[in-house]
Amino acid sequence: MSKDAPLTVAVIGAGIVGLCATLEIQRGGHHVLLIEPGEPGGRQAASYGNATWINPGAIAPISLPGLWRKVPGFLLDRTGPFTVRWRDLPRHAGWLARFIAAGRDWDRITTSARQRYPLCKDTVADHQSYAAEAGVGHLIRQQGLVYVYPDRAAFAAESRIWTMRQELGVRFSEVEEADLRRLQPELSPAYRFGARLDDAGQIIDPGAYCAALAQLLVSRGAQRFTATATGFAFEVGRLSGVATDRGPVACQRAVIAAGIGSAALARLAGDRVPLISERGYHVVIPEPDVELGAGLMPSDGQMGVVSTPQGLRLAGQVELADPSAPPDWRRAEILLGYARKMFPEQAKRFDTAEVDRWMGNRPSTPDGLPCIGFASRSHDILHAFGHAHTGLTQAPATGKLVAALIDGREPPFDPTPYSARRFAR
Ligand SMILES: Cc1cc2nc3c(=O)[nH]c(=O)nc-3n(C[C@H](O)[C@H](O)[C@H](O)COP(=O)(O)OP(=O)(O)OC[C@H]3O[C@@H](n4cnc5c(N)ncnc54)[C@H](O)[C@@H]3O)c2cc1C
Repeated sequence: MSKDAPLTVAVIGAGIVGLCATLEIQRGGHHVLLIEPGEPGGRQAASYGNATWINPGAIAPISLPGLWRKVPGFLLDRTGPFTVRWRDLPRHAGWLARFIAAGRDWDRITTSARQRYPLCKDTVADHQSYAAEAGVGHLIRQQGLVYVYPDRAAFAAESRIWTMRQELGVRFSEVEEADLRRLQPELSPAYRFGARLDDAGQIIDPGAYCAALAQLLVSRGAQRFTATATGFAFEVGRLSGVATDRGPVACQRAVIAAGIGSAALARLAGDRVPLISERGYHVVIPEPDVELGAGLMPSDGQMGVVSTPQGLRLAGQVELADPSAPPDWRRAEILLGYARKMFPEQAKRFDTAEVDRWMGNRPSTPDGLPCIGFASRSHDILHAFGHAHTGLTQAPATGKLVAALIDGREPPFDPTPYSARRFAR
């Protein structure tokens, strides 16, 4: 509970970050107004269509040393895991340069991993407890996650990241070929080595989970506003409300948790954040005739491959493109190609299945860290966005940090690395 009088807090965006933030803010005794134009758990949000992983080992940023050498290939090879739309290249060139610079040496990666870890480490336990409160405990699975490689040498090529995980306290075990076959008999023999993150898990249906959390929050007094936030109103230097396309919403604090929609609001709150969409895709193959225990990540495709109640989901791909541009469904076809490669016995079935295809926007900063904390214009506005590839994982810790800052409590971990002001330097 907050030591001061309860506040009215507007949370902008009901993706996983806004929902977890609301849950934690409510624990402080505050009244929350949840502003969201879509349905919580709906397809409009990245939180719907991701790879479902909740991963304490998600400590490495995407930009790693040597990436710059691969950029020309990304521009030319339309079938790889990372692509840039030519027509969007001029607009994204500055972001791309900062992205590459952020990962240019291993010291930076070590620092980044240390800064990411507090956001990741308790994710499974936190989601388990939220899911239990919402009556959907069955949506959280803790069966580990397995990175699969063609051979041990491919694993060894990533040894720095695995060592970093180990040094931070993330447990993993090596899976030799015979054990990999036992673990997942349908997996193609092209993958002969695995590394299993023992404590990682999945939210098997993230859309249903978000919908259930929203229901829980409303049952605890949160009020929903089906609207798009457009700005902020101030009176005598203090926040007095959030402007929306359906009229003003009076509040004393506001949290910007609008995913890719956050940059415009952050700017009005005094922070220019280089936030772009790393667009991602998924395919879901119903009745795939293969049930995965642990989720898999093939090293060549860099995607999450998981069993969900709707079928086999492959989610991944990075496409730097305008969020509003039409999806390029060839990227979903690449994912399907991996399904065929990984499970050759089932490939024919995949060809005839009614596959669900989805595209969503990862809200991404160039340094791989989210923006969490007070806005520059006013401490009545807080940022909670920019979680890129790992927002499902990092949402509970983000919510706890934001709630502590609103309450004026000692934060659970140092918020400095996530300040939006780092981009003003
Ligand atoms: C293909 C893919 C795979 C992924 N896999 C994983 C994974 O396995 N594990 C993991 O941890 N993460 C994963 N991610 C990342 C994760 O999904 C995102 O980081 C996370 O969902 C972001 O959550 P969010 O709440 O910030 O944004 P969103 O889920 O996008 O929600 C933002 C919400 O804000 C609303 N909104 C936008 N503008 C406004 C406005 N002006 N006013 C009011 N509301 C607004 C939107 O309608 C939306 O509902 C993946 C992402 C993709 C695309």
